[in-house]
Parts: sequence; C-alpha cells; structure tokens
Amino acid sequence: MTVQEQSMRANFRRPFLNWKTLAAFLLGFALYPALMLFPYPFFRHEAHAKNIAVYSDQSISPELFPLLAHVEQRLQRSPLDDPRLQHRVFICNSTWLFAFFANTDSHAGGVNKAWLNQYIFLRRAEIQRNRLIGPSGTEVPGERTLVYFISHEIVHTLEENLLGRNGYLRLPAWKREGYADYVARDRAFVFGEQLPAYRRNAYEMNPKRSGLYLRYQLYVTYLLDQEHLTPQQMLTGRIAEPASDTNGVMGIYNREDLFSTQSSASFSILAAAIVSSRVFSSLLPTRRVMARTHTWPRQIASRPEFLRA
Ligand SMILES: [Zn+2]
Repeated sequence: MTVQEQSMRANFRRPFLNWKTLAAFLLGFALYPALMLFPYPFFRHEAHAKNIAVYSDQSISPELFPLLAHVEQRLQRSPLDDPRLQHRVFICNSTWLFAFFANTDSHAGGVNKAWLNQYIFLRRAEIQRNRLIGPSGTEVPGERTLVYFISHEIVHTLEENLLGRNGYLRLPAWKREGYADYVARDRAFVFGEQLPAYRRNAYEMNPKRSGLYLRYQLYVTYLLDQEHLTPQQMLTGRIAEPASDTNGVMGIYNREDLFSTQSSASFSILAAAIVSSRVFSSLLPTRRVMARTHTWPRQIASRPEFLRA
C-alpha cells in the first residue's frame, strides 16, 4: 500500500457520522428506556420476601431476609401500605450501574422511579452489616441503615400509589421526603427534641446542605402527630411549607463573627432578637398560602411550645 493509498484510506474513514455510528446512537437512545423498564439483565441474583423482590449484581446474603422483615414492620406504620403492591429493589454494587440507572440522581443513596415503574435502585450495600455505601465510598452511618433506605424508597411508591403519577410529581419535596422519613426512620425522632435545632437553623436542618430531611420530617411530624391529620389529608391537602429564610439567619451569624468581643455581647442580643424574629416570621404564612382548611400560622400559633424561642 503506497503512502497515497494510505492517506486516501484515512480520508475515507474520516466522516464522523456514518451510518454505523448513527445506528449505534439511535440504538442507545432506544436501549436506555428499554433497560429502565427491563433492568434484569444487569441483576443476576434475586431474593423474594412477600411483596418485596430484591435484585443484585452480586450474590445476596440470606441475612437480607430479617432486614426485609424490618422493612415490612416500618411500612406497616403507614395506612398507605398495601400488601398487594409489588416492590422491586435493585442493589447496584457497581458504581457505574447505579449511575446508569439513577441518572440525574446519582448523588443520592437510592432512587425510586416512581413516575415510571416504581423500580427502586440502591447503591452498594453491605447486607450483613445492614448498611448502604454512600457516594463517598464509606458506609452511611447512624440511623440511616439499609432497612431505612429500602423503606424510605418504598414509601415513595406508596405516595405515588395514592396520588397518581401527576400528583406525585407535583408533590412538594417537604411532603414527599418528610413522609418517607417519617415512616422509614426508626422512632428516635422526637418532635420536641428536634425543635431547638430547627429554631437555630442548624446545619442538619437544611436539606440542601446536609442532604438530610430532618426539617421536612419535622413539618410532617407536626401535621400528623400534633395536628392529627391523616397521611392522606397531609399529602393531598393544600398546605404551604412554612417560609424560611436560611440565608438571612446564616447571614446574621456571619456578620456577628466580624464584631469584636466587646461589642459582641450587645450585638448578640440584637442578633438573637433578629434571629428569633426571623424564625418567628418563618412560621408565618407566605402571601400565597392556599390552604383551605389548614394554615401553618393558626396551627402553630395555637401551640406556644412551638413558638417558645
Ligand atoms: Zn426520597
């Protein structure tokens, strides 16, 4: 082959979008939704317990079964639980597998494709230890066990089952995640104990920063346990989230740091007054509160323990 022939051949190969790449591209587009609907080829191992099926890309320890019994116990706390519903949980021990299925939610510990087919995808799990391996590559500590993650994601299915696809998609995050944690967390959450952290706008009370849903769980716990709404009323009712001004409160704290120690005493009194008024105002309704039967201010204002600052 002469040099000239080689260069001609190279030219011939140059077109980027030949029919093969185009076909592969289109196949990819068709394949992705197909795998979303039928992910089983990636998950060779499976275990079934009552209405929960667990699939995994690695062998499943029999120690999963007592965990699933705990999941069922937690779900039974919810009147939305329906044993006729079939739940499918896919444990992705490979990072790429979770990223592939979780897609835009790949930073999460687990996702529920509630709007599609209610399939649940979880990150790598240490079943014997009842733990999920978080995005950082280490075990998610504390109360957020594997049982918690499975239960939390299944509650999203219960919500979707109640509200339908559109209703579920329109559900505000504080209701969706707050109720999922209300059911899925163990009973360590005590409303009164969480209030101080809420009032001082603690780090863990900011879902966007901490990744935790404690603030949302607090709202939901308030409505269900203190106001005695049913989960159906809470989820379907038009209840506005109490307005909060996170930046405002944090801004005050930051400004306080700039002051010298002499002035900080008087300033901190001022700051405390502003902070408490901020917290107070955060409990007041936004102007567009739409609730027909239920508004936060009336409910909250009637309970002095909630406002005690
Ligand atoms: Zn969730």
